[in-house]
Amino acid sequence: MSMRDVVIIGSGCAGLTAAIYTSRAKLNPLVIRGHEAGGQLSLTTLVENYPGFPKGVQGPELIEMMQKQATEFGTEFMEGNVTRVDLQHRPFTIEVGDKKFETRTLIIASGATAKMLGLESEKKLLGHGVSTCATCDGYFFRDKPVIVVGGGDTAAEEALFLTRYATEVALVHRRDQLRASKIMQDRILRHEKIKPVWNSVVADVLDVEKGHVTGVKLKDTMTGEETVMPTHGIFIGIGHTPTTSLFKGQLDMDSVGYLKTYGGAKTNVPGVFAAGDVQDSVYRQAVTAAGSGCMAAIDAERFLEAEG
Ligand code: NDP
Repeated sequence: MSMRDVVIIGSGCAGLTAAIYTSRAKLNPLVIRGHEAGGQLSLTTLVENYPGFPKGVQGPELIEMMQKQATEFGTEFMEGNVTRVDLQHRPFTIEVGDKKFETRTLIIASGATAKMLGLESEKKLLGHGVSTCATCDGYFFRDKPVIVVGGGDTAAEEALFLTRYATEVALVHRRDQLRASKIMQDRILRHEKIKPVWNSVVADVLDVEKGHVTGVKLKDTMTGEETVMPTHGIFIGIGHTPTTSLFKGQLDMDSVGYLKTYGGAKTNVPGVFAAGDVQDSVYRQAVTAAGSGCMAAIDAERFLEAEG
């Protein structure tokens, strides 16, 4: 069994930034890439708000550059999913199928996945009018009508953000009452650009044949009646799932499952650090993920130094 100074779980913005920092500090990190290698950025198209790219950069290209940068300093990458971790004993044990590693520190950057409706058309049009992030993609819908799906705080925030650009935001919710906090509900229901569409679910996203979103087929949950609503964009705001099931019972989490960090990137287990969306239900941006990856790397470095 090989022994490492740093193992990083996840290869999105947070994991790769942690890899750049720890490899540059000569800690020879191992990145276990995970099932959605490259993270959320590898699922988007143009990223216009990552500093340093005045004309924007394609999400997958940005990830590829970060990976190259990490490799340049000696990061090792491994394909696969972590299947078990033991954080009760030090060094920690990480299993990836039948391979086992021991590590002095662990940086968890396993991310969070936006929940999707589960439609085939939604999957095919992701990045072509279907989005899970208004902050990332809202700008592309200037002076166009869009739809937001969901009734919680995420959907409410997405809808409000989109009013900056879109001509109209239809908020499609499966019930006739929002789950969002009172203050968000007030803002939503008072906003002249936001039109709630109650008791409705998206039955299909149109038009896969054209290769971009032209509308949605809505189904009334009370009557079963189907109608087509033309639109240019559809934002799925039905929540996120942090990838933390492996750590249940070992690390502190909030009620949704996001890892709790204390004073930087530290978790409740000394030597285990968390970065990116796995510990952030609020900002969820590439640049904040990168920033917290840097914090986790510096915390890990200092921890190893202090251990001697
Ligand atoms: P929530 O679980 O609160 O809300 C999800 C919403 O999506 C619900 O309205 C739900 O409907 C709907 N939904 C779920 N699945 C489907 C589906 N398959 N089809 C259609 N609709 C669906 O998730 P959020 O991400 O909104 O919020 C998670 C937590 O994070 C909350 O505690 C929230 O307060 C917090 N948060 C806080 C923010 C802030 O403070 N700025 C910002 C964002 C989130 P239904 O209501 O019928 O169940």
